[in-house]
Amino acid sequence: MSSQFAPSRPGTPPEHLKSPVTQSVLRIQNQIVQAARELLLEQGFVELLPPIIGPVTDPGGRGAKQVDIDFYGNRYKLMTSAILYKQASLLAFDKIFYVAPNVRLEPLETADTGRHLAEFHQFDVEIAGASQQDAMRVAQDIVTAAVARVVRTMGSELEILGRDPDAFAPLLNKTGAFEQISHTDAMEDLVRLGHEQNHDAEIDWEGEGILSHKSDSPFFIIDYPKGSRGFYDREDPERPEVLRNFDLIAPEGYGELISGSEREYDYARIIARMRETGENPAKYEWYLKMVRDGIPSSSGFGIGIERLTRYVAGLDSVWKATAFPKIPGVVSP
Ligand code: AMP
Ligand code: MG
Repeated sequence: MSSQFAPSRPGTPPEHLKSPVTQSVLRIQNQIVQAARELLLEQGFVELLPPIIGPVTDPGGRGAKQVDIDFYGNRYKLMTSAILYKQASLLAFDKIFYVAPNVRLEPLETADTGRHLAEFHQFDVEIAGASQQDAMRVAQDIVTAAVARVVRTMGSELEILGRDPDAFAPLLNKTGAFEQISHTDAMEDLVRLGHEQNHDAEIDWEGEGILSHKSDSPFFIIDYPKGSRGFYDREDPERPEVLRNFDLIAPEGYGELISGSEREYDYARIIARMRETGENPAKYEWYLKMVRDGIPSSSGFGIGIERLTRYVAGLDSVWKATAFPKIPGVVSP
């Protein structure tokens, strides 16, 4: 990757949309979504159309602000993620996915990370009865199928973008599971490499970049500490303070593509976790009523579609992976 963190901005909408670079990237993205969809439909998943607004949304935090809208005199939110609805959807079907839009007013300082948009999409998957490892296997299968399909069908687009398909050889030649490293071990690696890191938090972007650059193939970081995630990531019953969750990190410095987890599904546990994470249970009335009546145990994950496109297409900035970029703080159509 050339200038990963160089600030860059899209041209006008006609300039952006008519550019051969944009068109190649969007064709690649199309193949990625198609590959993911085909794989899941073959495995018996049902695709649902995701909600865009609701009385509450994912409180995951991570520094981004939520957007309020007026819903007939009630304050509603645009979805920062559809996590609550993913759990609800399992009341209809055991295996579901959405292609879901998310709006997050990310902090201004993320405008030039090359990896943040204020509006983006997730390929959102949830599986009843599945474990952390089950979900990771599906995530690996999707990423592998997407990369394989792009390499097979998008040779001239990759060439226009200057993305060498050989970069994917370690991934495509892999026979077993992607490597897994625990959050604790990742921390120790970073400290050894001279990077200070808060042990109770998500790995910061710089630290994640260091780990990502060291690798030539996607890998998982698993078992994040409790302080780092929302109330819905399940705490390990045998290892309090440790969550049964994971991120998939792309190689070559591209960083996080996916976050996923086993979910909390027990009413009392969810209330306790809400309190611990500073969430007011009263806000979550519809969700908690549903949980009290019973929802399945599950695992799931969300793939950032623009992030995955960025990695596959070899782009310096994630805004190049969308037809209508919304960079944090940049007023744009
Ligand atoms: P999260 O649950 O916050 O980890 O979000 C799920 C996935 O969505 C991440 O793994 C990223 O791939 C993607 N994502 C999250 N925030 C952004 C953003 N601001 N811009 C683009 N993609 C994002
Ligand atoms: Mg994440």
